[in-house]
Amino acid sequence: MTTESAPVSNFLRTIVQEDLKCGKHQTIVTRFPPEPNGYLHIGHAKSICLNFGLAREFGGRCHLRFDDTNPVKEETEYIESIKESVRWLGFSWGAHLYYASDYFEQLYLWAEHLIAQGKAYVDDLTADEIRAHRGTLTEPGTESPYRGRSVEENLDLFRRMRAGEFADGAKVLRARIDMASPNMNLRDPVLYRIIHAPHPHVGDAWCIYPMYDYAHGQSDAIEGITHSICTLEFEDHKPLYEWFLDNLPVPNRPRQYEFARLNLTYAIMSKRKLLQLVKDGDVTGWDDPRMPTIMGIRRRGYTPEAIRNFCETIGVGRSDSWIEMSILEDSVRQDLNERAPRAMAVLRPLKLVIENYPDGQAEEFSIANHPQKPELGSRAVPFCGELFIERDDFMEEPPKGFHRLVPGQEVRLRGACIVKCTGVEKDSEGNVVAVRCTYDPETRSGLPGAERKVKGVVHWVSARHAVRAEVRLYDRLFTEPNPAGDDWKLFLNQASVEVLSDCKLEPSLAQANSEDRFQFERQGYFCADLKESRPGAPVFNRTVTLRDSWIKK
Ligand code: ATP
Ligand code: MG
Repeated sequence: MTTESAPVSNFLRTIVQEDLKCGKHQTIVTRFPPEPNGYLHIGHAKSICLNFGLAREFGGRCHLRFDDTNPVKEETEYIESIKESVRWLGFSWGAHLYYASDYFEQLYLWAEHLIAQGKAYVDDLTADEIRAHRGTLTEPGTESPYRGRSVEENLDLFRRMRAGEFADGAKVLRARIDMASPNMNLRDPVLYRIIHAPHPHVGDAWCIYPMYDYAHGQSDAIEGITHSICTLEFEDHKPLYEWFLDNLPVPNRPRQYEFARLNLTYAIMSKRKLLQLVKDGDVTGWDDPRMPTIMGIRRRGYTPEAIRNFCETIGVGRSDSWIEMSILEDSVRQDLNERAPRAMAVLRPLKLVIENYPDGQAEEFSIANHPQKPELGSRAVPFCGELFIERDDFMEEPPKGFHRLVPGQEVRLRGACIVKCTGVEKDSEGNVVAVRCTYDPETRSGLPGAERKVKGVVHWVSARHAVRAEVRLYDRLFTEPNPAGDDWKLFLNQASVEVLSDCKLEPSLAQANSEDRFQFERQGYFCADLKESRPGAPVFNRTVTLRDSWIKK
């Protein structure tokens, strides 16, 4: 069975523990609030594990809430993939699936409330003008000429905005706070904008849409969220988050806490950039096994346990840092080492002819499915006079220290017997097309001679029984640890996938179901592709190599 690390304490866990202990809250309510404008990535997994994990650990609940305030970028496909990703990671929102758009009416009424209090106004400045009026970190902003409109005029204009009287961008609703605030977020932030576009969840009901900052905290309050956990870049938004709670008749008072987002080397975490890779055809889709999306990582063969363990291992802190991709890779290696059955697959086949094996005969070797786990049983692997071995397990003129097959030398065929190379067959151009050998029947697995030691062990597949399959070898998507800047796409790894279409698998792999995972002996961990593999016609993706091949690079 797989082991998941015991929870390590972190500052959020401590806060929750204390809030429960002192009776500030009887139960905790967290939420995971994705915007449905793309697929979730491994950074979101950190947030999911944290929010759902805390709720689970402390007997509270975690809501899945779609922060769907911008209809232009949001799609139903994304909503579905997000739900699937959260479920696949092993979490459940139970009955608590929400949409910020379900609160549009309440949010609208609260906006009127702010107007009535003289705390919001309709502004006719354009987006560019508003930006120009905002000032800088060192200089205060300038008040809009429309800031002094009366409550009546503002209410009238805001209602007409909702009624659809104005074009996109013609007007916005802004909070009236302080154009000289040292916190730029408090310089009369925009609360509503006009967007004449249908919305994936509420259809044509609205043509004005609330901004994220206005919708978010109030949604938390409506749902009774106790701990609203977000990433550090929202720290500067917290005074605004609290300003809304102070100035609106909200039923609950949630509190915002910030933690450091996950940055992973050799990957990108921006949905905008991930979308660009999809649109430009650099990958086959959001769920391409090279993508750092949860659906991509899943197709690559990662297990939910490995990802949850990774998120627990990297911890939750308050300072931004980078996590090495090798840590993520190690988490899946560790998990699959424990649970993945072993099998033999020859990826780049070379024929091996056993001269002294009786023509037409075949036999079976019983091979354990896992070297340390007898409970995983064994399987019968057929063997005959013609096998496939890995092309690079043979060398005619080997360098020093090469312990695999070499003319005149012996190797052990894993789980079977010892063979000795007697020669090679070449084509007219001098390429080796087959290796010839003799086998020593006394060294067959199970016989006393099987103990005889030889330096090399290679894997093999019986030619007559082999199943032909496509295997895809994936590598990192980027060549640079931090593919930043405008030219980030220049760092795409041009060799991030290699498709091998004539691999030879041992017959037990023929019936693999999609998402079945194996260790291919000596090669790495592989997973039958979720979309394209079928029993009888398997397609495998390499999840990760057996060892970190990037260390020396
Ligand atoms: P973008 O990728 O476009 O910047 P986003 O990642 O902020 O967008 P959201 O859908 O708003 O997308 O994110 C949902 C939740 O996931 C938010 O609470 C956010 O704080 C959290 N989150 C996003 N990225 C990370 C990350 N790299 N590490 C940890 N949490 C993250
Ligand atoms: Mg966001």
